[in-house]
Amino acid sequence: MDLSKLCIHTITTKPWNLETAIPKYAAVGIGGVSVWRDAAQGFSGGIESAGEFIRSEGLDIVSYVRGGFFTALEAAARQKAIDENKRIIDEAAALGAPLIVLVCGATPGQSLFESRKQIADALAALVPYAQSAGVRLGIEPLHPMYADSRSAVVTMAQTNAICEAVDHPYLGATVDVFHVWWDDQLEQQIAAAGKADRLFSYHICDWKNQPEDMLNDRGLMGEGVIDIERIGSWVEQSGFSGYEEVEIFSNRYWAMDQDEYLALIVDSYRKLKGHR
Ligand code: ZN
Repeated sequence: MDLSKLCIHTITTKPWNLETAIPKYAAVGIGGVSVWRDAAQGFSGGIESAGEFIRSEGLDIVSYVRGGFFTALEAAARQKAIDENKRIIDEAAALGAPLIVLVCGATPGQSLFESRKQIADALAALVPYAQSAGVRLGIEPLHPMYADSRSAVVTMAQTNAICEAVDHPYLGATVDVFHVWWDDQLEQQIAAAGKADRLFSYHICDWKNQPEDMLNDRGLMGEGVIDIERIGSWVEQSGFSGYEEVEIFSNRYWAMDQDEYLALIVDSYRKLKGHR
């Protein structure tokens, strides 16, 4: 089956470095890769040559993961975060990635309302820089279990609200089924993002029934409780025609033989798309 719209995040096969992962992905016909920062920085020839290497293997670079963490109690720390994100934008441009995924941050000791305001302010300051580098920014709302310290943005409605407030074509949304599958407003909010040309990327995996670890026990598509097919149809109906990106953090899968694991990923994707 056609895997040209399948993308894998390098973190998904964490035991493989970039030099190993990219030819493996290419060999099974996967079309794209989202590159995590540590993978790009670990490439022997530097970030620019990592980009050349990936393209020479025939893969599209879908996104650079990740930026964000804009919130802080002190203004100086928030400015530092903006400066750090400018460096991340420079890295994405050097790599040739058109998009950075953002985990926006949350800070214990201040309200989520204040954190979301700080996120919007930081993005307004950052997005002209992103545009000049030719790199778009995608806010990824995280599951509310991470609202303590990782992301004050937990719904697509909040994501859309920040995008509307900043109102810039280089700022949009990343939908990850793991984070937003429970939201009864998801269909409408995905449609709204699509209508405003703000749906930039789409991540898939599954939420296992009773995960053993809230970060590192994600499932393969079909292994858990998310109606990925339905969410995928909303994403498609919104006008999105980009990659379906498999992003799985899993101690269990990282402990496996990664070639066998890659075959499982492809198999679960096939089943999701209705092919065996
Ligand atoms: Zn994601």
